[in-house]
Amino acid sequence: MKSLVLFSNDLRLDDNDAINASISNSDSSSFLFVFDKNLYEKTHGSANLWWLEQSLNSLFARLEERNILLNIIEGDYIETIVRVVEKYNIGSIYLNQNKNPDFAKVEKLLKKELDKMNVDFNSFNKSTLVDPSTILNKSNEPYKVYSPFYKHCKSIYVQKQVLSFPKEPFKTFGLEENQMDISQIFSSRKTGWSKKFKNYWNPGELEASKKLKSFFKGYLSEYKDIRNFPGTAGTSKMSPHLRFGEITTNQIINFFNFHQDHMLSKHEEHYIKELYWREFSYYILHHFPYVVNKPFNKKYEDFEWEENYEENLSLWKKGKTGIRIVDAAMIELWETGWMHNRTRMIVASFLTKNLLIPWQEGEKWFKDTLLDADVANNVMGWQWVSGCGTDAAPYFRIFNPILQEEKFDPDNSYTKKWLNNYNLYTEDGSSDLLVDNNLIKPIVDLKESRNKALERFSRIK
Ligand SMILES: Cc1cc2nc3c(=O)[nH]c(=O)nc-3n(C[C@H](O)[C@H](O)[C@H](O)COP(=O)(O)OP(=O)(O)OC[C@H]3O[C@@H](n4cnc5c(N)ncnc54)[C@H](O)[C@@H]3O)c2cc1C
Repeated sequence: MKSLVLFSNDLRLDDNDAINASISNSDSSSFLFVFDKNLYEKTHGSANLWWLEQSLNSLFARLEERNILLNIIEGDYIETIVRVVEKYNIGSIYLNQNKNPDFAKVEKLLKKELDKMNVDFNSFNKSTLVDPSTILNKSNEPYKVYSPFYKHCKSIYVQKQVLSFPKEPFKTFGLEENQMDISQIFSSRKTGWSKKFKNYWNPGELEASKKLKSFFKGYLSEYKDIRNFPGTAGTSKMSPHLRFGEITTNQIINFFNFHQDHMLSKHEEHYIKELYWREFSYYILHHFPYVVNKPFNKKYEDFEWEENYEENLSLWKKGKTGIRIVDAAMIELWETGWMHNRTRMIVASFLTKNLLIPWQEGEKWFKDTLLDADVANNVMGWQWVSGCGTDAAPYFRIFNPILQEEKFDPDNSYTKKWLNNYNLYTEDGSSDLLVDNNLIKPIVDLKESRNKALERFSRIK
């Protein structure tokens, strides 16, 4: 029987259940990536598309080294697959589930079409460690708080084997179709800003595992202590690699002896807990799909945001708020396509609680400019900071960016790195320009804006 292996956000050869199952169960397999422009442009921001193109190039080359063609076809996702299935007399489809809600919808429709044609549909889950539908609390309801969710996950954890790409030769077949020019995905259309990304990132499975190994040999042993300091390269930077499935959380967690009764170092356990924040984001998205654009906590739908905020939003995006750490972080994002978690929280708090701009605007900008932009983590990150999500920071906890900078960038290495005009910022974000007219003026007074936010939040308590 002939089979198709379909790729989407699982751009790897190892720990890829769809590949291994197809090869074990079929006489011959073909590897296919369908670029459905509408679907990809809806679910991927610009920076994501840059990564996707690079990562596909890398996957293509890895398969080519093994004399296997990765077919890349542009077209409507379902129509293309159904046409290929009919034309090449395919008996089975193998794919790894894509947990993005728009992809999940299309995969469901594809299954329906294939069922009608009596074609086997085989799907696997390696995007997350847990199947969200199987985890419920004692009242048979979804967890809404992270800590008990994590405790539950830890108690039921069973180590899963990491699969290797088959070593024995196997038969494949190519598709005689118009192969898409991969550069059409991003680089032939957009340039400029993204050109710098190559200085910081190398998409692809090999780089993901190389980077993970060096993190394990290096910063992991201090992770809990240094992960909050944006001026230190103390985190793993696995996020875009995980976003595109170049590595699985299963592969990462297999490096640890992660069982209820095993003592992990505090750094190891903390790293695992961060991976489970990602699990929790997907879990919440599964059980409460409305969170994609509405607050988890519905009472915040009535929150009174500022009305005419376009100018402040634009200054925030450009890193021109006059608040040193906020501007440095927004410039880091523009320059590298990534931002440190601590500063993601600071800029998100500033946008929603000082500028009183809806969190959805920040989420949209992150979606377009973050290489790791991921629907579940992004939405949950924004809701957490703005106070309307699960486990959310209470409304009265408003980050003071000046104190955050003092605590987490004490030597100013982060702000100095990203701000060319570092010397023009006032130490305390003060807007008193009488002292020196050349100094950069913050676009809001931190104290006044904080009080305004507190007053508005208290109205919907
Ligand atoms: C407003 C806001 C928006 C965010 N948007 C995204 C996003 O679009 N995509 C994204 O992957 N992460 C997002 N995060 C979470 C977090 O900032 C990044 O995952 C992290 O900074 C990635 O860097 P790292 O790989 O070096 O992390 P590490 O500290 O090395 O952590 C390892 C992995 O754990 C997961 N992780 C770590 N922190 C979190 C977290 N707080 N929530 C969920 N998962 C986490 C990530 O998969 C990460 O790659 C957002 C956070 C905030 C506050």
